[in-house]
Amino acid sequence: MAVLLTFIPVWIWLQIDPVISKRDIYISCIVLPLLISPSCSIGIQRAHLKVRHLADRNEYLANHDELTGLPNRRAFFARAGALMDLPRPSTQVFACAIADIDDFKSINDTAGHEAGDLVLKALSTVLAEIAPEDVTVARLGGEEFAMAGLFASEAAARIWFEALVREVACRRPDGRKVTISLGWCIAEAEENMSAQLSRADHALYQAKHGGKNRAVRAVSGGPRMIAVA
Ligand code: GH3
Ligand code: MG
Ligand code: MG
Repeated sequence: MAVLLTFIPVWIWLQIDPVISKRDIYISCIVLPLLISPSCSIGIQRAHLKVRHLADRNEYLANHDELTGLPNRRAFFARAGALMDLPRPSTQVFACAIADIDDFKSINDTAGHEAGDLVLKALSTVLAEIAPEDVTVARLGGEEFAMAGLFASEAAARIWFEALVREVACRRPDGRKVTISLGWCIAEAEENMSAQLSRADHALYQAKHGGKNRAVRAVSGGPRMIAVA
């Protein structure tokens, strides 16, 4: 087929210029295209790879927090929603939580904004490292993180969230004493992510007022303080 196609320009040349020499026709219709086409095809291939790379980068930036590399709020809603919709045995529960670094402003004030950034990064690494496979972790913004996922039971969710608070205090992210307060809840029937996060946020408020460095469970059907999404 390709060979046949090369004869089309030869034929066209002969119609346009019947006195052209065979040598010139072969050079302009066969030799030159053969020489030029590999570099054209490499150029097209490179442009295609660049477009793909840019598309992947855009997709990454749209779904990740730039500082910590964790999924952002938008990705959290997508991932948590997908986990929530997974078919699961009736014994399993879906739980979500909001964690907030305690007295984070004082780290910025005393050690500087860059030290604060390092703490955010180090804490993100700890959270991503200890989250089970079925739990997604995201940075909602500022010094607030969200977690959501499937747990074997309500008790298992409680144990994990409480252990997480203790673990952060023990690990000393970036070599500093950093603690978090956490509010969590178990999803109720037909309850969407915004409503769950709103309940978790209310529990977080209680954790702060109860002395910080603790996990508090939101009461079932409890108050929904703010619309989070
Ligand atoms: P609380 O224990 O009640 O949560 O007190 P807090 O100091 O942690 O909370 P507050 O809301 O008073 O301060 C949060 C601070 O987090 C203020 C803001 O400047 C800082 N912050 C928000 N985003 C970033 C960031 O990306 N990097 C740094 N370094 N600081 C940030
Ligand atoms: Mg805070
Ligand atoms: Mg906060």
